[in-house]
Amino acid sequence: MVVTRTLDGLLPADVLGRQDPELAELLIGELDRQSTTLQLIAAENFTSPAVLAALGSPLANKYAEGYPGARHHGGCELVDVAERLAVERAKALFGAEHANVQSHSGSSAVLAAYAALLRPGDTVLALGLPHGGHLTHGSPANFSGRWFDFVGYGVDPESGLIDYEQVHALARTHRPKAIVCGSISYPRHIDYEAFRAVADGVGAYLIADAAHPIGLVAGGAAPSPVPYADVVCATTHKVLRGPRGGMLLCGAELAERVDRAVFPFTQGGAQMHTIAAKAVAFGEAATPAFAAYAHQVVANAQALAAGLTAEGLAVTTGGTDTHLLTLDPAPLGVDARTARGRLAAAGLVLDTCALPHPDVRGLRLGTAAVTTQGMGEAEMARIAVLLGQALREEPAGRLVREEVRDLTGRFPPYPG
Ligand SMILES: *Cc1c(COP(=O)(O)O)cnc(C)c1O
Repeated sequence: MVVTRTLDGLLPADVLGRQDPELAELLIGELDRQSTTLQLIAAENFTSPAVLAALGSPLANKYAEGYPGARHHGGCELVDVAERLAVERAKALFGAEHANVQSHSGSSAVLAAYAALLRPGDTVLALGLPHGGHLTHGSPANFSGRWFDFVGYGVDPESGLIDYEQVHALARTHRPKAIVCGSISYPRHIDYEAFRAVADGVGAYLIADAAHPIGLVAGGAAPSPVPYADVVCATTHKVLRGPRGGMLLCGAELAERVDRAVFPFTQGGAQMHTIAAKAVAFGEAATPAFAAYAHQVVANAQALAAGLTAEGLAVTTGGTDTHLLTLDPAPLGVDARTARGRLAAAGLVLDTCALPHPDVRGLRLGTAAVTTQGMGEAEMARIAVLLGQALREEPAGRLVREEVRDLTGRFPPYPG
């Protein structure tokens, strides 16, 4: 194919600013917010300009229901190539026999995994929501809790670690059709081999919801669920640093069921611009630079955990193996909601989360975004001190805000 023009020349400069200044101003304001505050939300990252270019490309115009070579629309020759590239890159990156890259989000991927393996009313064993399970792991407000009979396992209230004995006991009692492992706030590696053994013992499917750690897996900084789980669900926008979206990985024997569970069972036309952006992100994630990034993300989380512990905060499980950590701010005399508000005012953006002790909420922090900005352990130590200051005394907030502005100014997410 001969490319006769560049994407850069496709749109006149500042086309949005001239056509719709109201919205352009919002977008610029959001870029400014992201660039001048610290993004410590564990599920967020800064995707690359190349990924953003794919997202903003004319592939956004294309209807492509179905799969490459078998579409319900004409004109899919080039987007077919884009999807095949995304699939091949995902399979190579994760060593999977099959990849489906069409899921619109992490939740859609989990819905598809259930649709592929379960029938309404089936029993499913998953980490309980009060212990860090996702909405799709049996919340009564979500399709999962409405259509399936979820039983929740937990983490030990003292250690904060998954109680594998309890998982085993619950599996024997309830005989689930599937067991789900994965969490929105578990800071340690999950023992996929142990889950596989429990699942095999009761004849259950094992679904790994690796939405959070899949980017670490790509970079070789966390164990892979692929050899153990029947289906792996993931997002592409967390540590993996791609566009917002989902993905499923599985063995060849489940490939067709998984594909049908995505389209036509739970979704319509694939978002080809997002799929192209996923291909770009998988390409980036296969590089040595991304492996170094993934390892730095973990080193940064560990440095942050050590710094926050030194500030007197109670870090769950005493640290982290991953990009995220959770803590109880109670030792500094604030509850999690108050803490989140105070920290946001000081320019530190993060979430509240469930903690191992029932009915207590804590704070969840992640290092994927600040590491993409180029920050290292020294900056994590400084962030821990700033966080402690902002929590301890309210008047400190303004001084902390200035220092956050200075710090982020030295590590712009989109330089130039
Ligand atoms: C983020 C996440 C999801 C959902 O991803 P969305 O893209 O927000 O739908 C599902 N499961 C787990 C464990 C997650 O962390």
